[in-house]
Amino acid sequence: MFPSVLPTYSRAPLSFVKGEGSWLIEQDGRRFLDLGAGIAVNALGHAHPALVAALTEQAGQLWHTSNLYEIPQQQELADRLVALSFADTVFFTNSGTEACELAVKMARKYFYDKDQPERTEIITFSGAFHGRSSAGIAAAGSEKMTKGFGPLLPGFKHIEFGDMEALGAAITDTTAAIMIEPVQGEGGIRPVPDADLKQMRALCEANGLLLIFDEVQCGVGRTGKMFAHEWAGVTPDIMMVAKGIGGGFPLGAVLATETAASGMTAGTHGSTYGGNPLGCAVGNAVVNIIGTDAFLDDVNRKAGLMRQKLEGLVASHPDVFESVRGSGLMLGLKCIATNSDVVAAGYRHEVITVPAADNVIRLLPPLNITDEDIAEAVSRLDQAASSLAAG
Ligand SMILES: *Cc1c(COP(=O)(O)O)cnc(C)c1O
Repeated sequence: MFPSVLPTYSRAPLSFVKGEGSWLIEQDGRRFLDLGAGIAVNALGHAHPALVAALTEQAGQLWHTSNLYEIPQQQELADRLVALSFADTVFFTNSGTEACELAVKMARKYFYDKDQPERTEIITFSGAFHGRSSAGIAAAGSEKMTKGFGPLLPGFKHIEFGDMEALGAAITDTTAAIMIEPVQGEGGIRPVPDADLKQMRALCEANGLLLIFDEVQCGVGRTGKMFAHEWAGVTPDIMMVAKGIGGGFPLGAVLATETAASGMTAGTHGSTYGGNPLGCAVGNAVVNIIGTDAFLDDVNRKAGLMRQKLEGLVASHPDVFESVRGSGLMLGLKCIATNSDVVAAGYRHEVITVPAADNVIRLLPPLNITDEDIAEAVSRLDQAASSLAAG
């Protein structure tokens, strides 16, 4: 019989029934330390009291009205995000890939309105991930995501990650934008060097292009800054966020400067659900907590602690791990063993990690994970690695 759930996922044989902070409880009662956080989504862990309160209070009042009407919770979240970033304006979506769709449309509309309609091409990088919509897969361009789904949305030029010379050479008079994740997530936790982000900003200035950052995974406190690009001291013209901003409620956003967004007038874009009262009530609770210096300072402190422990782990298992990489609490372990075997060994020792490309396992814990849980998580990874070496 064909599976009643479309079989597009290869799932681990685990079924969680409850979450508490950085812990997930399996239906058989086992307690797993969660270093996956639903792929960097549960930024404040599971069942955070402030998020539960925001959701349930709003649920008792009003869930949804559509964007035909004013939504005060949406206005509040937009004001907050504008205050916390380079942006002048925000559009809310339900996911990362929808944010990518708008970023692409916004960039093209900008040049169309500037009487440069030939400028439609967006330059992207190998290993990129921008979601699974038609624009998202065309933007990423990998065969794994695009094969069989043609004809692909035209207008993307793919260059090698890290090849700044190729980037310079790829810019022509039909180029509209450069689009990049400041830290690649699915691509294997690969941070873009600050100098490269600076050079991209300079290339955009020199050629009149828009710079688009995809911070769906690396944004909202994940790297220890509210947005990852702040480390490099440069700003984009357009930025996508999602994942962490909803803390587990499906919520995404596009942030943009007034100039970049100038073409997006009434009727040019929309979403039935995007930015509804329920999602934005939760988003406000998340941003209220994460968007403070004290919280971000603590993320940086914990990141230092975790990284130090992971360096020790790598040193004691040179047959399993090669190196630690990443930024803040967006960490990757480059493996010598096969990454999926390491993830599976973690499951046997009740610690959850997430595989990525380039034979990496991702460690994306809740940003409020305790020091004790960090120590326990690394100890479990140590046992998992020992079991692999013995096996
Ligand atoms: C997860 C992710 C997306 C897609 O987000 P969805 O909510 O799954 O559509 C896009 N870009 C990056 C960098 C991501 O990590």
